Amino acid sequence: MPFASDSARPIALPDGAGPVQAVAQDVEGQGRELVPVLGWRRGLVLGLVAFAPLLTLGAVVAVNMAMGQSTFPPSYAARIELPANAVQIGLPSIEGPADPTRPLVVIDAGHGGHDPGAHGPASGGGTHIEKDMTLALALALRDQLLAKGGVRVALTRSSDRYLLLEERSGIARRMKADLFISIHADSAEVEGASGATIYTLSQRGSSEEAERLANAENRADTVNGVPLAQTSSSVSAILVDLAQRHVAELADDFVKLVLREGEGHIAFRANPVQSAAFVVLKSPDVPSVLFEAGYITNPTDAERLHSPQGRKEFASATAQAIRLFFVRERSAEVLPAGM
Ligand SMILES: [Zn+2]
Repeated sequence: MPFASDSARPIALPDGAGPVQAVAQDVEGQGRELVPVLGWRRGLVLGLVAFAPLLTLGAVVAVNMAMGQSTFPPSYAARIELPANAVQIGLPSIEGPADPTRPLVVIDAGHGGHDPGAHGPASGGGTHIEKDMTLALALALRDQLLAKGGVRVALTRSSDRYLLLEERSGIARRMKADLFISIHADSAEVEGASGATIYTLSQRGSSEEAERLANAENRADTVNGVPLAQTSSSVSAILVDLAQRHVAELADDFVKLVLREGEGHIAFRANPVQSAAFVVLKSPDVPSVLFEAGYITNPTDAERLHSPQGRKEFASATAQAIRLFFVRERSAEVLPAGM
């Protein structure tokens, strides 16, 4: 069951000093190489310089100067000290390799605690509850990723507990995740609705978030480690826009991999790729998708996702898509010498 958009609700503030350098490394840990970037991740600036007009370039220089860098291209690193944050929930533990340069995926099991989500009939007269199904799928996905290695994994919840929508995406942002996946199970009044759907953030949701970040009271926020309070409003708007475009492209890339790797393993519905203004998808600097793994109201879908074999198929295909996504992203991150 998807979440409604509610842009009036606050989003948990991110934390921590900005990233100082990107480390390119494939999932197997080969070919590690330090890569200079403009203080935020994924070679955003390289892509920026490649396609953006002079206005953008000017904005980048302005940001560099605001951050104490007087030259362009900048030197290796810019450390940014951020003010103390508002009250935040604790961050979950990270499982997998201890190497902090390995990519991090944050898996969000939808609903939980007093929010059960959708429900559907189970065989034998019982009931499938969405919050239980999403947690089981999230755990199965984690297990698959850990079994293959190379990827760090964190769960927004690993038990039956309630989290605000903003806390879920906020955890991914604060942990500087490389990918965020929120797992849900769909529901429909219509009999026969079945199959998985994968959502990315819609243009409307993207615009809403850009507007929110541009508001004065949200200028304590950071995007890609750059504190917006240290930039002018026009530079902030450009930074947010570029960051959003970049993560939108990455999310689209990931969706394509899920469809490809899921073929024959995950039963997708017709038109399985959708966009919506879901709150959990609004991180401007973390590629985010919401995965409706199937219809809990459809007995076939529900029984498959409830079965250990069905869960494993879902998890195995999705884990493979995640691993390929990171391999591609990391290899694209390697910048030419001298940048
Ligand atoms: Zn749901």
